Amino acid sequence: MFKRLMSFMPGNGKKKIPTYIRKVIPRDQHTVSRSFISDPAKKVLNRLNTAGFEAYLVGGGVRDILLGERPKDFDIATDATPEEVHELFRNSRLIGRRFRIVHVLFGREVIEVTTFRGNATAPDEDQNDDDRKTSEHGLLLRDNVYGNMEEDALRRDFTVNALYYCIRDFSVIDFADGIRDLDNRQLRLIGDPETRYREDPVRMLRAVRFAAKLDFDIEPETEAPMTRLAPLLSHIPSARLFEEVLKLFSAGYGEASWDHLNRYELLEPLFPDTARALAAGEPDTVIRQALQNTDRRLQQGKSVTPYFLYAAMLWPALQVEWRRRQDEGEPAQPALHQAIAKIIGRQVQATAIPKRFSGPMKEIWELQTRLPRRQGKRALVTLDHPRFRAAYDFLLVREAAGEIEPGLGQWWTEFQEMDERGREKMLSELSSSDAPRKRRRSRKPVSKD
Ligand code: ATP
Ligand code: MG
Repeated sequence: MFKRLMSFMPGNGKKKIPTYIRKVIPRDQHTVSRSFISDPAKKVLNRLNTAGFEAYLVGGGVRDILLGERPKDFDIATDATPEEVHELFRNSRLIGRRFRIVHVLFGREVIEVTTFRGNATAPDEDQNDDDRKTSEHGLLLRDNVYGNMEEDALRRDFTVNALYYCIRDFSVIDFADGIRDLDNRQLRLIGDPETRYREDPVRMLRAVRFAAKLDFDIEPETEAPMTRLAPLLSHIPSARLFEEVLKLFSAGYGEASWDHLNRYELLEPLFPDTARALAAGEPDTVIRQALQNTDRRLQQGKSVTPYFLYAAMLWPALQVEWRRRQDEGEPAQPALHQAIAKIIGRQVQATAIPKRFSGPMKEIWELQTRLPRRQGKRALVTLDHPRFRAAYDFLLVREAAGEIEPGLGQWWTEFQEMDERGREKMLSELSSSDAPRKRRRSRKPVSKD
């Protein structure tokens, strides 16, 4: 039952070589209950097995069930090729260029089926191999070599993500001491951490995300190179980083993810302008408040939108740029528009922001200057704006963060609830002086002469 596996670590002549032992944990010695596995996932596993292929539940699906949580999705690993899987399921799609995988679709549920991959060789050894390429930084550029199950396990990121559940005999197969790390609530990269981060720097963001979500520690050797290697994230395509940022902040553990990102200095490659603004003393209170709200909303089963999150993440950077322009004499409104264009223009180089999100994000920001100006018809016009609701929520976040005096948010809350007469009354009670002032840093003293 036990099989010794050679370590695959490249360049590990100097480093200690972990030896992994394959362990099989029978059904009566683990807590994976089939009731936590969705019917579609069971269907895919069974059909692959019946067709004569090996197929296992793997990754977050097994990890989360072992932790007593209901997984958010299911990943399956198999020895069937993507084409064979595709043939077996009419409701499937072949996707991906870098990794060819199959999505089997059941209504809104997507089961991701991946063919065992073999990365278990040193990059130096397969320099000429067309299917597996690394860049000068050690980044894996292509990774489409099929392998056996052991190899598949060892090319995965963390030991707790390399557990396989077999639906034929209900056993859990553990290749890299994932169960031990799960018990100790530790995230440990398989193999040599530096090599694994160089192959794919996004693993640093995954470490942060899982540490936040699972409330796990990052094991010291896995943690040690993170800050030093953080700049490697700038080699990752901006669209992939955008996706990772959303996963970090919209999984319900945004505030914890934020703390971890800062701890390992991973903010700089993701949000360079924000990192700079915070380093220069701009507070992160709006970001933190927005993340707390987001986490709360997600717990309540409500949705969150990427443009709201991004509006908050870039807020400190926008403040610095807007202020700088006003200090140079630009009037407030044009300065705001210029600052917005500049901040977005720079941000998309780090993490892409699809147009369908950058547009509404701009509107949230612009509306912040319109919300205090309510006289005459203004309040009604603002209320009709398609982005009013998001801008109002953003205003509440700024108030809760102590960035502006409380009051305006409450006014808008009441104004929305009033009938026409009530609104008229509220507007008539407004005097030109009651627009809330900024509490912090009032800019430029008014000239006395
Ligand atoms: P969750 O779905 O809860 O976010 P997960 O662990 O299932 O967590 P996925 O992104 O769905 O994460 O990936 C599925 C599995 O694929 C992971 O558990 C891991 O084994 C492997 N994997 C994903 N991304 C990487 C990566 N960048 N490097 C190595 N292995 C990875
Ligand atoms: Mg998953």
